[in-house]
Amino acid sequence: MLMKHFALSALRNSHATLFARDLPERVAIYFHELDAPYKGAFKESLGYFLDRGYRTVCASEFTNPSLSGKLLFVSFDDNYESWVDAADALDDLGATATFYINSGFMRDKAHPAEIADFFRRIDYHGPGSTLSTDELRDIHARGHRIGCHTHRHRVLAELPRTRWASEIDTSKRVLEDWLGAPVTDFSFPFGMRRHFSEPLRRYCATAGFSTVATGISGMQHLGHNDPLELHRTGWKFHLPLEENILNLRIDGSLYARVTGRSVIG
Ligand SMILES: [Zn+2]
Repeated sequence: MLMKHFALSALRNSHATLFARDLPERVAIYFHELDAPYKGAFKESLGYFLDRGYRTVCASEFTNPSLSGKLLFVSFDDNYESWVDAADALDDLGATATFYINSGFMRDKAHPAEIADFFRRIDYHGPGSTLSTDELRDIHARGHRIGCHTHRHRVLAELPRTRWASEIDTSKRVLEDWLGAPVTDFSFPFGMRRHFSEPLRRYCATAGFSTVATGISGMQHLGHNDPLELHRTGWKFHLPLEENILNLRIDGSLYARVTGRSVIG
């Protein structure tokens, strides 16, 4: 693990030297939980972009080539009670985000043991629980987008077709039921190329999703012109802001094309 971490750091640092470019006009970042220690850093991260003339947009706008100006796509993955605080922070800043949710773990519907198992699988050990359906509806009513992150956060590429189709369809159906509105944005669990496939991407398009987001960092210079492959860079709260900005400036597209992995880790 340590060696892997060391190798990734060396890879990322060599890319930072060789392949760092200016911050692109379109930047897509994503977050997970927003527990208490991160709230200030979250506002600071968004403030950095807003101060430089970026405006927050949804995934469809972000991948629309006819929109001009500096665009920032902010999103969140999984399902955390602390997204209520994230929505408050976004509202304070006049910004919007997309919340990609796992619909199978709502606090008012799932058994606590199922939620505990979900958090264990995604390596979350913080104090909070998941959202309630009322909180989800409230975030949506405040003007933020709700996207689908599947029902139970499995590695779709490792499931048989009937099960991955059910993971996607069930989630879309229940979310639309709760919100009374279409859900057309999708991000797949774990986010790397090996966790998804072309048949899955085509299925999402025919199932009614107009955008599909990845979690492959180092891809911010590709132009974001494919709505079914919107590359986002994960924001790391344990790193200072400047290091996160450098992660967005690194062009890791060659490495990702060859290996299917991210140089940033
Ligand atoms: Zn996830």
